[in-house]
Amino acid sequence: MRHLFAVFGNPVYHSKSPLMHNLAFRKLEYPGCYTRWLIEEGSKLRDIFLSLGFKGVNITVPHKEWAFKAADVVEDFAAEVRAVNTLVLSDGKLYGYNTDAPGFYRALRKLGRVKTALIMGAGGTARALALYLRSRGIDVEVVNRSPGRLDWFEKEGFVCHTWEGFEAKGHDAIINTTSAGLTDDALPMPKPLLDAALAHARYAVDVIYGRQTPFLKEAKRLKLPHFDGSEMLLQQGIIAFDHFTEHRYALEEIETAMRPFLEL
Ligand code: NDP
Repeated sequence: MRHLFAVFGNPVYHSKSPLMHNLAFRKLEYPGCYTRWLIEEGSKLRDIFLSLGFKGVNITVPHKEWAFKAADVVEDFAAEVRAVNTLVLSDGKLYGYNTDAPGFYRALRKLGRVKTALIMGAGGTARALALYLRSRGIDVEVVNRSPGRLDWFEKEGFVCHTWEGFEAKGHDAIINTTSAGLTDDALPMPKPLLDAALAHARYAVDVIYGRQTPFLKEAKRLKLPHFDGSEMLLQQGIIAFDHFTEHRYALEEIETAMRPFLEL
């Protein structure tokens, strides 16, 4: 019997997750099949999951909070950020996980040792990364274009800055979680501030994938080791696959099977 998996979201047509997971199912000879499923109302997510007989799903924008509510059991980190991107049915219960930030961290560790990080941007992705990186002992600071979204980070005890008066103090990793460069040629910070931050950095990371952002172009020009959002996508997928297949394979084995999707 084949186990059925999917990515739930709105929109989902662009998602690369089916390609990534089906490739790994085939290479590892796991009896799984992964599709995409458009979910218009997040409140129906649990019923849709159970009535269609899925074994596991990934959840993308805008339903991660609904997925958190749909789970019977939520792992600690997903509960902290109230966002679930992986649901797995096991023994009649829905287990919820967040593999985005752990995936990001897995990719970051491959670059080298990181003790300090500067996160540019203060949206949902920045929140998850800031909490997770701090839980792994990394000293995180946040810089954002406007002050509004920084309130949450300040309450959580992060050192925060807006662009005004910001001086980079030599962070190991500079991380772009803003949407600057997603559809335009914008930099995530004014050029003088970014240049100063990159001048002392050891690594540069962008969570955007599908195109090379001006920020990563700059990092490349400076010959800084870097990765983009496709590596994060891959790594979160590896951890999700590990949950889907209930830890049957080593993470390295899954990575070997899945990584070629980046070239497809
Ligand atoms: P949000 O909408 O929650 O936050 C966007 C942030 O970007 C805000 O801090 C905003 O600042 C800032 N921003 C927007 N435009 C600019 C600009 N031109 N210059 C400087 N700052 C800007 O976004 P998310 O956190 O949900 O997503 C952020 C990015 O992460 C997206 O590009 C998304 O595609 C990517 N992503 C990638 C994933 C992956 O697997 N690779 C997973 C999830 C997300 P302000 O507060 O001032 O408005």
